[in-house]
Amino acid sequence: MKYVRGYVCLFFSLLCLNPYVLAETSNDKPIKLVGALSQGSLVTGKVAKEVNVFLNDRVIKVTPKGEFVLGFGRDSDLIQTLSFESEGKYLSKQRINLTKREYKIQRVEGVPQKMVTPDPSKTARINADSKLVRTARKQSLDIEYFLQIFTPPSDGPITGVYGSQRVYNGTPKRPHYGLDYAAPVGTIVYAPASGVVTLTHDDMYYSGGTLIIDHGYGVSSTFLHLSAILVQEGDKITQGDPIAKVGKGGRSTGPHLDWRINWFDVRLDPQLVLERYK
Ligand SMILES: [Zn+2]
Repeated sequence: MKYVRGYVCLFFSLLCLNPYVLAETSNDKPIKLVGALSQGSLVTGKVAKEVNVFLNDRVIKVTPKGEFVLGFGRDSDLIQTLSFESEGKYLSKQRINLTKREYKIQRVEGVPQKMVTPDPSKTARINADSKLVRTARKQSLDIEYFLQIFTPPSDGPITGVYGSQRVYNGTPKRPHYGLDYAAPVGTIVYAPASGVVTLTHDDMYYSGGTLIIDHGYGVSSTFLHLSAILVQEGDKITQGDPIAKVGKGGRSTGPHLDWRINWFDVRLDPQLVLERYK
């Protein structure tokens, strides 16, 4: 009897060395990922505290509680590999098979031609704008608001979606990465999740009044074409706070809010973020 109990205890303690990982990363029971497994998606997961996470070869920062977030671009590879390590030792791998998305072609006519093929004298301004945006999106604050259930920043009708190939005045341009809500100039924009303001700019060439809120661990929201910004860089924002007013500055054919979500420099689909917990 003694022998049996000893054997059981040894077996049990081995199993319990790292119960979360054994339970969650073995082939039988993979880590639960929250979010659509498709191109353009934001996905979160959770591991035991001491486990390191890699997406392909990229180190993924994990919160003190073991949560992590990943983003997959519009045209990302359909096969992705998560791997898990603890104290330098390999634990397991988990393959993610993403669904391929189909994107619309959207023809936009009546855009002022200077916004389609800008005057070379504007190049310096355009480059300076994008440098500011890139720097803001590179931040990875240790705040965990990316885990919140995001809410729409506007209730205006959706007039543009993520991923569509844009053709401006007949000229094919980069895909559209935002979710557009039509609303009159001055309509209040609400924070879709809590965060910290990392960029405010009154008038960027393409995007007019521009605001970026960091939600932590590389996840950020960008709001474009604003007529007014109601917050300042460094401000802490709570989900639902009024943060800006709709406008029509930059490359825009009418008043609307263009809301974007990034995971670092990877552009994600805000609609998938809104549906993440559904
Ligand atoms: Zn847009």
